[in-house]
Amino acid sequence: MWDFDVVIIGGGPTGCILAEEIGDEVSVLVVEEDKEIGKPIRCAGFVSERCIKEADAYKSILKQKNKIVIHSPKGKSAVVNTKENLFVIKRDKFDQIIFKRAIKKKKVEFELNTKAIRNDGNAILLRNKDGLKTVRARIIVGADGALSNVAKWFSFPPVNTNLYAFQTYIPHNKEEVEVFWGKDIAPSFFSWIIPENGTARIGLASQENPYFYFKNFLNRFTDEKLKITGGVIPIGARKNTVKGNVLLVGDAAGQVKPTSGGGLYTGITCAKEAANAIKEVIFSEDIKKLSKYERNWRKKIGRELYFGMLIHKIRCRISDEERDRFVSFVSHCKELVENNIDIDYLSKIAKKMWKYPATWREILCIIPPYRFIPLVIRSIFK
Ligand SMILES: Cc1cc2nc3c(=O)[nH]c(=O)nc-3n(C[C@H](O)[C@H](O)[C@H](O)COP(=O)(O)OP(=O)(O)OC[C@H]3O[C@@H](n4cnc5c(N)ncnc54)[C@H](O)[C@@H]3O)c2cc1C
Repeated sequence: MWDFDVVIIGGGPTGCILAEEIGDEVSVLVVEEDKEIGKPIRCAGFVSERCIKEADAYKSILKQKNKIVIHSPKGKSAVVNTKENLFVIKRDKFDQIIFKRAIKKKKVEFELNTKAIRNDGNAILLRNKDGLKTVRARIIVGADGALSNVAKWFSFPPVNTNLYAFQTYIPHNKEEVEVFWGKDIAPSFFSWIIPENGTARIGLASQENPYFYFKNFLNRFTDEKLKITGGVIPIGARKNTVKGNVLLVGDAAGQVKPTSGGGLYTGITCAKEAANAIKEVIFSEDIKKLSKYERNWRKKIGRELYFGMLIHKIRCRISDEERDRFVSFVSHCKELVENNIDIDYLSKIAKKMWKYPATWREILCIIPPYRFIPLVIRSIFK
């Protein structure tokens, strides 16, 4: 009755990692609408060493970049030389490395250039150049990115917020990664410059008017007509990510760090949890075991994403003066920040700071707590 044990909609990094993890034991079809895995690129490609390790994609590394400069709205800057190793990657190669491993698994099939267009109960209707066909699977996985159709078909709750991002390349000779912060730069997020070799990826994300702010920011560096790419960054994970025999993973589930918009490490971590739960379901023939995925991914990174969302909400509310003071504070606490920063688990540095009363007293002066107590209480009891 089933064509496959699992059908995965979306051949991005989370879909491919999941296929790789289960593909020795479970029959899998991965459906990808693009002709080529990893393209088009919609990513700044800045990740931790932990992310590279989890994906086993060392060959996608272009450069190591441990120096980050944070610019405040009024022109102050803080230089952070992180102890943690951070890398600029070639994002298409990153995805292709995972894909090439997945496709070698004996029970995995890929259909590229094929779009999943709707569901009919447990059957998924696919369209490609040869026409329409239906595929039936015991488990359906939505790894179909930020604008997940699988989430819509099966009425999953929404993600908290969608940020809209634009990016392009400019000629550039500096070496350090730069982050620009400010109400007039990117009101609810930030803009970035990530150098490659003689060029840089320049981008910005925001909730409001992203293209307007991006063009403004870009005009500081060039007025040339450039090829701009856009993408959506979903933050604030969906309230549930499993429904019956359907699960969501990666951007489709909103498993993205709200502080930075990075979703590679979190998506891959969750895809591995999905793989464990799926194997259990297939071997026990008990579909209820799929809910273990929900419990286990939340145990691993749920708190971190929750903390990140709180920081994001505070970031949206603070003034440019407070942003300025925060950047000065990072300069004062340079050693503490450099030794403890972990871009995948930023809450670690907050916990560390808590041990130094002088530091948290300073933070409370920068961002007066009375302004944020209602927000924190709402977040805790929501
Ligand atoms: C501008 C920008 C910069 C970013 N920078 C970083 C960064 O520096 N570091 C970082 O960690 N993360 C970054 N991210 C986030 C990161 O790109 C995502 O978190 C990551 O790609 C999520 O992987 P995924 O597999 O869940 O989804 P995706 O990579 O979006 O893959 C989903 C796949 O599903 C396919 N698909 C969708 N619908 C269908 C359908 N109906 N049928 C068939 N196929 C379908 C799509 O073609 C796509 O290939 C950035 C995102 C953006 C937009």
